[in-house]
Amino acid sequence: MKIFLDLKWFFQQEKKAYISGVFLLLVVAMLQLVPPKVIGIIADEIKEGTLTKGILIQWILVLAGAGIGMYTLRYYWRIMIFGSAVKLSKQLRNSLYQHFTTMSPAFYQKRRIGDLMAHATNDLSAIQQTAGAGVLTLVDSLSTGGFVILAMAFTVSWKLTLICLIPMPVMVFLTSWFGTMLHRTFHKAQEAFSDLNDKTQESITGIKVIKTFGQEKEDIEDFRRQSEDVVQKNIVVAKIDSLYDPTISIIVSISFFLSIAIGAKYVINGDLTIGQLISFTTYLGLLIWPMLAFGWLFNIVERGRASYDRVAALLAEKVDIEDKEGLTDEVPSGDIQYNIEEFTYPGENEPVLRDTHFELMQGETLGIVGKTGSGKTTLLKLLIREFDITKGQIMFGDKNIRDYKLEKLREAIGYVPQDHFLFSATIAENIAFTDPTVPFSQVENAARLANIHDDITQFTDGYKTVVGERGVSLSGGQKQRISISRALLMNPEVLILDDSLSAVDAKTEEAILSALKANREGKTTIITSHRLSAIQHANLIIVMDEGRITERGTHEELMFAGGWYKEMYLRQQLEELVEHGGH
Ligand code: ADP
Repeated sequence: MKIFLDLKWFFQQEKKAYISGVFLLLVVAMLQLVPPKVIGIIADEIKEGTLTKGILIQWILVLAGAGIGMYTLRYYWRIMIFGSAVKLSKQLRNSLYQHFTTMSPAFYQKRRIGDLMAHATNDLSAIQQTAGAGVLTLVDSLSTGGFVILAMAFTVSWKLTLICLIPMPVMVFLTSWFGTMLHRTFHKAQEAFSDLNDKTQESITGIKVIKTFGQEKEDIEDFRRQSEDVVQKNIVVAKIDSLYDPTISIIVSISFFLSIAIGAKYVINGDLTIGQLISFTTYLGLLIWPMLAFGWLFNIVERGRASYDRVAALLAEKVDIEDKEGLTDEVPSGDIQYNIEEFTYPGENEPVLRDTHFELMQGETLGIVGKTGSGKTTLLKLLIREFDITKGQIMFGDKNIRDYKLEKLREAIGYVPQDHFLFSATIAENIAFTDPTVPFSQVENAARLANIHDDITQFTDGYKTVVGERGVSLSGGQKQRISISRALLMNPEVLILDDSLSAVDAKTEEAILSALKANREGKTTIITSHRLSAIQHANLIIVMDEGRITERGTHEELMFAGGWYKEMYLRQQLEELVEHGGH
């Protein structure tokens, strides 16, 4: 039950609602005692032949009053308690989301998005359950249960009460046990279902590949097997579920049997009136719900506990890239100087960068080339502080990049990643992502620079065309160019194109590059590319291999040096010739 203590901050915050809710619950628990008592009294009056119309009407009014009272109060406590519980999950959801947005890629590298989504949905709903249904079942089972047992013991017979209560602990235990079993099997069934979902999604996305390789039969067989698995696991759930009601009914019946069998003897002996026995059995009926609730309480609390711990652990996770104390709002600008002794990714053993030193003057263009996996992207990620350097530093202007606020550092840099991402929004909204208030002319200008304006105007809805999963499908090159427009709109101090021209043809690439050159006078640009033509005009070109700089210089210098760069350049020229026949 420690979870209720953990949630103390919340109960305190919602003190008014909870105190009123619990108070109303207690009143309802007492009002519930009225009808059985009244029914018993009326039964006795009938038996004695003393029931008059006046008395009957009087009792009916009492019953109606109690009924209306319970109806109204139940409505209000539900609003108070369940209403507050919803607020708890809202508050936790907001904190989680805010926390997620501050976490660095290293955090996401350790976790699957699906798991984070599960925390944000299942765990929050389990915690909400604890704050709502948990509080309800705790208060209600104790109060209703307690009041009813007291009423049975004091107004009827404590002996009979004790006897009839014998099966109740079994019921509490079984309810809790069934709850655990149901939860466990249901969870497995859910997992099987989400596996099936993943499989279906994958197959549909990869349908072309499946067909090309003639794997339809195997795929259908896979699907059939997984689908069967879902059915089997759901049958297990249904079986356990089906067992629950009959089992509980039997236990309840035993209680009723004891009350009638032994109670009848008391009536015959004159220890009880028939009316008292009727009240007693009705009370017994009232006891079923609190006992079941008590059983559920264990499950609710157990799940709430586990979920709360998981969410709390997530929230406690420290942001690993943090601002130092006391930084100013200065936006970095100036020359960039890399002095990396070593960089190792979190959780890895081997450094991916070693002895990487170079300087890039403000306003110049740097080209970074090298084989896949040689560390080009890593170099860029260190500049935008997606990760912090393990040994060494990068200077920007006259300061270490760690001496600027992260927000300001990123404001100075427009990064177009390899895996560009477009939101399910209009093209204009995607381009104006960092500042939705900019005038449309600027959006258009950025699109022109990235050579995508003409493509956009050809869509029926122009800049209002919706892209993303539910929108128009764009070619890889179009997506890349929209991503570039997004970065250009910021007009950043440093523009980074991380292999972001790979899907456009050589001519478009050239057009974009010369537009950039003309428009980014005095501003720094960093380009990584597989196609060496994209960087041949750069002021400085560095060639990376296995995390080290192996060649550096201008295009002419590198051609003269005759290393990997020259070999690659000539090979690509030849390929270009073969492909386009010299045009
Ligand atoms: P390039 O951009 O030249 O293709 P990268 O900088 O992406 O190279 O990768 C350099 C090396 O670092 C590769 O061996 C890659 O597997 C590894 N690497 C890249 N990103 C991560 C990461 N987030 N965690 C661990 N290793 C990584």
